[in-house]
Amino acid sequence: MIRCPNCNSSDIGKIGANQYYCWDCFVELSVSGDEITSIYQVEEDGTLDSLNDLFFETESDPGSIQSNL
Ligand SMILES: [Zn+2]
Repeated sequence: MIRCPNCNSSDIGKIGANQYYCWDCFVELSVSGDEITSIYQVEEDGTLDSLNDLFFETESDPGSIQSNL
């Protein structure tokens, strides 16, 4: 069972071979097996806004995030 990493809802609809959609917070999830690989916010005009930098650790300067705390 896939849960939304954004709102933890299990109200997830399958929209493609490896794509799911959260009906609670309106994000699109790309999955590989049981693992979520990408998260996108779907804007009102239908464009996708990547949320990957919010949910996945990247190696690109973590210091800048801490400096904002
Ligand atoms: Zn959600």
